[in-house]
Amino acid sequence: TEKTMDKVIALCKNRGFVFSGSEIYGGLSNTWDYGPLGVEFKNNVKRAWWKKFVQESPTNVGLDAAILMNPQVWVASGHVGGFSDPLMDCKDCKTRHRADKLIEDAGGDANGMTFEQMSAYIQEHGIVCPNCGSANFTDIRKFNLMFKTFQGVTEDAKSEIYLRPETAQGIFVNFANVQRSTRRKLPFGVCQIGKSFRNEITPGNFTFRTREFEQMEMEFFCKPDTDLEWFYYWKDYCKNFLIGLGMKEENMRLRDHEKEELSFYSKATTDIEYLFPFGWGELWGIADRTDYDLGRHNEVSGKVQDYFDPETNEHYVPYVVEPSLGADRVALAFLVEAYDEEVVDAEKNDTRVVLRLHPALAPYKACVLPLSKKLNDKAGEVYALLQKRFMVDYDDAGSIGKRYRRQDEIGTPICVTYDFDSENDGCVTVRDRDTMQQERIKIEELAAYIENKIAY
Ligand code: ATP
Repeated sequence: TEKTMDKVIALCKNRGFVFSGSEIYGGLSNTWDYGPLGVEFKNNVKRAWWKKFVQESPTNVGLDAAILMNPQVWVASGHVGGFSDPLMDCKDCKTRHRADKLIEDAGGDANGMTFEQMSAYIQEHGIVCPNCGSANFTDIRKFNLMFKTFQGVTEDAKSEIYLRPETAQGIFVNFANVQRSTRRKLPFGVCQIGKSFRNEITPGNFTFRTREFEQMEMEFFCKPDTDLEWFYYWKDYCKNFLIGLGMKEENMRLRDHEKEELSFYSKATTDIEYLFPFGWGELWGIADRTDYDLGRHNEVSGKVQDYFDPETNEHYVPYVVEPSLGADRVALAFLVEAYDEEVVDAEKNDTRVVLRLHPALAPYKACVLPLSKKLNDKAGEVYALLQKRFMVDYDDAGSIGKRYRRQDEIGTPICVTYDFDSENDGCVTVRDRDTMQQERIKIEELAAYIENKIAY
């Protein structure tokens, strides 16, 4: 059976992972709301990242900076002025296109071209509107991807501010604060999870590309000339993070940027891509950004953030390696990866949908099932016991078989059945999501059993 986006999306909507945003008002295009299971799942993804990048790291610390920042930040970062896509409309069918994308699709490369050069290329190569076939385009214009709003009561140019298009700048402007307050020596990383906003021209593919999304970013500050070493270290670390949570290597690829594709300040950049049903898509951008960002802020703010190296008695601006991961994107990749339709009994035409999520990512770690409603009180005690430690579900509706299947579909690693023997032997039947094997386990050992299962 084929894995398609439609199937994954249908499961998400039906089981409460992801709903369309503002649905009762006809929606707001490309906005999504995480439902009861989705919020657990995405929190688990974020928690896993935090565990591996902050908690288990001897060098790294966390940060939670404001979404709204002084507009000068975006001047320094290059987002005002740059960060804009070359756009044009088809005059006939009124659809909007990215000029660079049309050129790319026609086998060209718009990198480094001016708008005039792009226009000329489109004309010379007879590129037409993919929607209606017309060659009647407007001029190319710049489109700033940042959402603009106003701070305070007056809506004038002076009160204009932006919603951050990335979380990274909140880290750069706090480099000195973090270094001083934690008395960290280089190298060290500062990690942050938070919302970012980009007025994307072509959002789509479910939660893959949206205008509001969450990022998990780290800026790893190091001594100049050690940056490439750290770049390779973190590239490997990121890849292993995904593999450790169940992503198959055959569905991943590491795409190194060629010289021409590299930003002028970057020594090396690699994208970790995942093979979605709609094709390869970037999950994680890992870049050696040298001392560019701190250098720019030093220049524009006039406040110098640098590092005094007690070993060499020198001041210098640290170099930085940045792995930047989309929380929604990687969550979608884990969902797609986990989605499976398994033939249980071919003769009976019995197939089950099972989300083979790593137990650490599963919304519920277990579901407690009383064999009969008569056992609700006793099974309820087991449920209450487990709830103290984990997110667990409880289900007493329908046959045991149906209840198992409902949990398979949402990725619950184990079902715990309380039956008529349980009161006598203090044991429950634990049924495994993946193998469907059952075993008898002491109630008092359940928590340790689950703890062991969700370890990573
Ligand atoms: P793309 O080429 O897909 O637009 P990008 O190269 O602009 O991505 P970065 O600026 O490197 O992306 O952002 C880092 C990460 O943030 C991406 O790898 C992706 O996981 C996530 N991300 C970026 N834009 C979006 C978006 N519009 N929706 C969801 N996630 C996003």
